Amino acid sequence: MRKQRIDIVRVAVPSPLRRYFDYLPPSGTALAIIKPGMRVKVPFGRQSLVALVSDITQHTTIARNKLRRITKIIDDTPMIGSHEMKLARWAAEYYQHAPGEVYAAFLPLSLRRGAPAEMPKTLCYALTPSGKSLAPSTLQRAPRQQALLERLAGAKKPLAISELAEVGGSWREALRRLIDKGWVQRLACDSTTEKTLPTESAPKLNDAQQYAVDSMRDRESDFSATLLDGITGSGKTEVYLSCIEHVAAMQRQTLVLLPEIGLTPQAVARYRQRLGQGVHTYHSELSEKDRLATWLAARNGTAKVIIGTRSAVFLPLAQPGLIVIDEEHDTSFKQQDGFRYSARDLAVVRAQQADIPVLLGSATPSFESLENVRQNRYHAMYLPERAGAAVHPTLRILDVRSRPMPGGISDLLADRIRYHLDNGGQVLLFLNRRGYAPVLTCHHCGWIAECQRCDARMTLHRGARLLVCHHCGKLQPEPAQCPSCDKPSLEPMGKGTERIEEQLSKAFPGVELARIDRDSTRRKGELERLLQAVHTGKTRLLVGTQMLAKGHDFPGVSLVGIINADQGLFGLDFRASERLAQLIVQVAGRAGRAEKPGEVLIQTHHPEHPLLRQLVAHGYAEFAKAGLEERRLAGMPPYSALALFRAESTKSAAPSAFLQQVAHRFRSDEELEVLGPATAPMARRAGHVRAQLLLRSTRRAHLNRVLAERVAELEGLPSARGVRWSLDVDPLELF
Ligand code: ADP
Ligand code: ZN
Ligand code: ZN
Repeated sequence: MRKQRIDIVRVAVPSPLRRYFDYLPPSGTALAIIKPGMRVKVPFGRQSLVALVSDITQHTTIARNKLRRITKIIDDTPMIGSHEMKLARWAAEYYQHAPGEVYAAFLPLSLRRGAPAEMPKTLCYALTPSGKSLAPSTLQRAPRQQALLERLAGAKKPLAISELAEVGGSWREALRRLIDKGWVQRLACDSTTEKTLPTESAPKLNDAQQYAVDSMRDRESDFSATLLDGITGSGKTEVYLSCIEHVAAMQRQTLVLLPEIGLTPQAVARYRQRLGQGVHTYHSELSEKDRLATWLAARNGTAKVIIGTRSAVFLPLAQPGLIVIDEEHDTSFKQQDGFRYSARDLAVVRAQQADIPVLLGSATPSFESLENVRQNRYHAMYLPERAGAAVHPTLRILDVRSRPMPGGISDLLADRIRYHLDNGGQVLLFLNRRGYAPVLTCHHCGWIAECQRCDARMTLHRGARLLVCHHCGKLQPEPAQCPSCDKPSLEPMGKGTERIEEQLSKAFPGVELARIDRDSTRRKGELERLLQAVHTGKTRLLVGTQMLAKGHDFPGVSLVGIINADQGLFGLDFRASERLAQLIVQVAGRAGRAEKPGEVLIQTHHPEHPLLRQLVAHGYAEFAKAGLEERRLAGMPPYSALALFRAESTKSAAPSAFLQQVAHRFRSDEELEVLGPATAPMARRAGHVRAQLLLRSTRRAHLNRVLAERVAELEGLPSARGVRWSLDVDPLELF
């Protein structure tokens, strides 16, 4: 189509299509008042949607009479600033994802729906004039009411409900009475976090910490990426805190990204205790109101520190000064569906665009980051010693071949558990499989409980008397007898956390025991309750999944047992061994944090496995060196760039037919390796047939360019109809 010069507003519409859409400005509106980053209302098909202005341009390929008009300009000023717009454009291009969905990630839900960008109000309470003039003795016989009055009289500002709740008892009833009597009034206040003052001061940093802090200060005013490689308990968090204090003193903001599970109330409390006011949080458990409040406080600069999970990487920042990514190796920084981005990688790009430092910390850095250090793209700093008095735990392999192993616990491990319990220690056992047993089979006829919708076995959850498919969520009552031969000879095979718990309660009767996994912590507050019981020392024996591996301090734990390392030794994925090593080291890091020396025991049937030996004998750094060499030989990341197409459909031939056509479009490129299409490792899931296609190139920039040229046109392929497909750039998992 011939190009023509007219005023066009290019818009990112929340749709899965990989393109921007062109509109005319509302009639009678001067183009000059429309700015990139503003929200507008546009007609889209038969809908009316809230969209974001991306550009103002004079060029379009759409015929003038086909162009529709923006119906409304929602904002007077851009909702997303130019820095965030730049990041959004970069991300849409790099991940080849629909711009509308990428831009949407930069806004909290209420703003995406068109709500005004105003600080949400919450109820708060203050004394009325007559309340203020009350004689102190008036309420002598109503102690709760008196306590509330005293609190309100002592405060310089209206108090939030949470602050009044601290009075305890039947405070709600007392408050209602005070309002009825006309002594207390309800007001609408800004819902910002309460202003708390720091209650703890920094410990004196050790030399390694001080060196790390000093080098960060030397680089405070430009972009740089630094890997803080420090063993668990070496004081990385103290380094972050010290850097953050300095950045805040320059009136600049710090964004701290933590793994999902790491954002516990304890972690946030530690930042609050040290930094006081201006610490805000941003994660999926927050109410929409609180998310909006943090978003606005980040944008206007009153939030000096924002601690959040991966989606916080999209927060607007008025005066960015530093980005910290704690546990940078953690897979939860990668979004695994929809807009598949890596918050860690985007954070580095963002720091680069904003020209500020980014600090990545881990005890078990990802192979990618280690390679970046080797290439001198990242600085590296090391904290090799545990802070304070704690000693490093020792790792030992337990060869469990032909040992008695009732319920998954070898006699060797049981002996050590007993020893540590007898000596006042706590014991933590780790198994990355929840439920009772991963397989339920019939001893008589060989029947196996399989999911009807997936190529997978059902996991037995004995406590709930259910068979559960961990892939599609299908539930079924636990059968009393074999559905195939009707004999009562069903037997669970293999072990999950429930079964280990059962065995422990048999072997160590009377010892306080807890299980921490997704099932046992479903109820809100339950995880905190269980963790608290570990901290107070009430719980002596603890079994759990990877939920235990992250972020928690268990100073009383003196023994850590890895129930089954073999699961990770023979994983399908090329990252399986990296993950296993990270897990072992992270779980091991929970032990012996205080004065008690820790012991870590790893049960395996493959004691000679080179990975395990390397890790146990020489530690994570040496293991990673060997692992990276393997990657180099195999031409896998970080020595190549990958992009994975996934497709699924209820029609069995459709996914591979579509991916054949996709493959065809990329095969002509000589710098690109096209692997597949192949059926996915789990060929059927939730009733859908699945296939995938992998692209690999030794040059990332090349892969990105080719994707940018060819992905959008795939949407129009006839074979794409009836197929759900996605593109995953830098996939973490190849299935
Ligand atoms: P990491 O983040 O590397 O796991 P932390 O910063 O949580 O380590 O520190 C581990 C423990 O050591 C914490 O209890 C912390 O308060 C303490 N700690 C850290 N640095 C020091 C120091 N310089 N002096 C004394 N104690 C310290
Ligand atoms: Zn049977
Ligand atoms: Zn299933």
